Amino acid sequence: MREEQKKAKVYFTNFRSTAYGESIPEKMVRLIRKAGIETLDFRDKFTAIKMHFGEAGNMAYLRPQYARALAELIRSLGGFPFLTDCNTLYAGSRKNALEHLETAELNGFNALSAGCRILIGDGLKGNDEVEVPVPNGVHCRTAKIGRAVMDADILISLTHFKGHEKMGIGGAVKNVGMGCGSRAGKMEMHSDGKPILNSERCVGCGLCRKHCAHGALTLNGRKMEIDHARCAGCGSCISVCPRDALSPRWGQSNRLLDEKTAEYAAAVLQGRPHFHISFLCDISPNCDCHGENDTPILPDIGMAASFDPVALDAASVDLCNKTGRLRGTWMDECGHGKDIFDDAHPDTRWRDTLDHAVRLGLGTDRYELITME
Ligand code: SF4
Ligand code: SF4
Repeated sequence: MREEQKKAKVYFTNFRSTAYGESIPEKMVRLIRKAGIETLDFRDKFTAIKMHFGEAGNMAYLRPQYARALAELIRSLGGFPFLTDCNTLYAGSRKNALEHLETAELNGFNALSAGCRILIGDGLKGNDEVEVPVPNGVHCRTAKIGRAVMDADILISLTHFKGHEKMGIGGAVKNVGMGCGSRAGKMEMHSDGKPILNSERCVGCGLCRKHCAHGALTLNGRKMEIDHARCAGCGSCISVCPRDALSPRWGQSNRLLDEKTAEYAAAVLQGRPHFHISFLCDISPNCDCHGENDTPILPDIGMAASFDPVALDAASVDLCNKTGRLRGTWMDECGHGKDIFDDAHPDTRWRDTLDHAVRLGLGTDRYELITME
């Protein structure tokens, strides 16, 4: 039987606001103050605010105004905040730092709107990483994390809580674990760590070979070939291919993905102060990594904050399940069981991430919900 865990406090408020009254970002600041964010010593500390800037074409990601309100609070407490995310593994609009920053700007994030600078955590090509031990890791002994994320003294996650096609939910643990992994780290979480080549797309330009430090790529006529015995799984080739001919292997089981992501989150957060904020709004069935977003499957519920990312995710799921599903959405095509996320993606099981996070000592899924008006 699992050892009885102490309950973590999760603070929650809805999005109600009266005419001429408090704005939603102001309400968020009031919530996180109540949740105790000011007990962290921000003085002269680099503070990473980990969030998702949205894929190009996606409209469900969080607005920069929330980051701005948070950055202003951190600055008023003597800290040096910056917004961060790491490059993606797949070939989208955020696969290297230049495209990532451009997408962030197109989606409204800049130093003025976000109230602080934006740093892409794993550098230009997604390989500026630090290898960090995973406490109690079962699948990964170390995690490959973006250097700027690990260089920060304090980490705060600002999460758009939503459904996820492979993990069931996109919550705080995923934002930190998957989101802070470098490209090689994401390869390790998503797959066995080696890319595959689509020969039809390859035009034999040789660019990938120039970036491979392990001699794993050779040109055979006008087509590139990968020697998987030599490949170290760094993912550099994926980020530079102009034809998107290289991609990760996605064939890993969802459970392994869930558990590795929890291990990465534990590596990112161990031994330093952290705090977590989730927004339960525009709850799309899929991740903001999509270049589109389907109609929200739930009404806007509110925002929640905690020192414990596991408790925050557990509370967020429960808040969603207590709220009636919206009709005319993806949920019309799904089953009607007890859990909206299990119904939305029946081949996923979000509990696997939280159960493993609890086993790792990252947090607890037992919580006390404290509601603020
Ligand atoms: S960079 Fe892409 S297109 Fe160029 S050789 Fe490598 S795989 Fe082929
Ligand atoms: S992922 Fe493998 S083939 Fe690609 S650059 Fe890294 S070592 Fe070379």
